[in-house]
Amino acid sequence: MDHSDPIAIAQELIRCRSVTPEEGGALRYLVKVLADAGFTVRRMTFTEPGTPDVDNLFAKVGAGAPHLVFAGHTDVVPPGDEAAWRHPPFAGEIADGVLYGRGAVDMKGAIAAFIAAAIDYVRANDGRIRGSISLLLTGDEEGPSVNGTAKLLAWAAERGEKFDHCLLGEPTNPDNLGDAIKIGRRGSLSGTITVTGKQGHVAYPHLAKNPIHSLMRIMTELMSETLDHGTDHFDASNLEFTSVDVGNRATNVIPSQARARFNIRFNDRHTLQSLRSWLEMRCAKAAAANDVTCEVEYAQGNSEAFLTQPGPFVDIVRSAVRDVTGRQPALSTSGGTSDARFIKNYCPVLEFGLVGQTMHQVDERVPVADVTALTAIYRRVLETYFA
Ligand SMILES: [Zn+2]
Repeated sequence: MDHSDPIAIAQELIRCRSVTPEEGGALRYLVKVLADAGFTVRRMTFTEPGTPDVDNLFAKVGAGAPHLVFAGHTDVVPPGDEAAWRHPPFAGEIADGVLYGRGAVDMKGAIAAFIAAAIDYVRANDGRIRGSISLLLTGDEEGPSVNGTAKLLAWAAERGEKFDHCLLGEPTNPDNLGDAIKIGRRGSLSGTITVTGKQGHVAYPHLAKNPIHSLMRIMTELMSETLDHGTDHFDASNLEFTSVDVGNRATNVIPSQARARFNIRFNDRHTLQSLRSWLEMRCAKAAAANDVTCEVEYAQGNSEAFLTQPGPFVDIVRSAVRDVTGRQPALSTSGGTSDARFIKNYCPVLEFGLVGQTMHQVDERVPVADVTALTAIYRRVLETYFA
């Protein structure tokens, strides 16, 4: 098989049933492809009590700086009702120039594109490149993200690997290939506010302290505050309440507790710590004014906002996208979180991949032409980066 054909690689990958945390043969296949092309390949399984074991892969060609690393995940979300698919989710079928399958855009197509580009680049230079190209591939992005990229990065750092820049192949384009490069991500803080008052009979409210009244006041106050007006690269930070719960079935009882769950998506004007302080200060003030107690608890997995400042690396990727697609990509920080939140602690990271429209949906699919164009973009990035 020609390992520089991104479509063939994408089809092979889609045929592997790698629903998180199953490896499904996807990494085993890539080990062969990359080893055949002269990469040094290591596979490792990471474990942690309470989470499934996950397979990961590190591959490298060349030596020293500059060191460009491509990051991605071979795991996919479940297909849902397989009968609802026009083409089976793990068949890798092409119809009318469109490749169907779970992971086509998120993100087996992009992995195939980068591998084909890297193999072609290494081959065109007779295996001699001015620096290093490596790949960090995990099977734990769509799951708990515990035994994946975070541990893979630590493992590589322990072995003395120093990355200068990272390209993450998540689907970043809303409508057309070339729409957007992600240069950062908003942070995310989730938690629960619990107000405790005093239970009592509704006919004798003076003997009780209704926590619902106080919770509503706290919520109204928090919602009426403007966190910021956005920055050059980020939208304004935003707090959303996602649930309000009392769980009281009685009609004649004032409950003792009321809870509200919230999520804040925030930009680089804030940190997790500054937002926690803000919330706790507001709650303490409201609790004192209403003679109740108010506690804030935080969920697991909250993340900081980050930004890769525009500069030479951003320019390389931007020019490659423009040269191949004719589009001037926006520099975006929108959307949810990704493994970039771990990578940014090691080196500047950009995200550019396929069009995300059908990700996680029935009939996930990608035009073959998009995979070919993305391969050309990654190939140009390599050419310029190592020039
Ligand atoms: Zn993804």
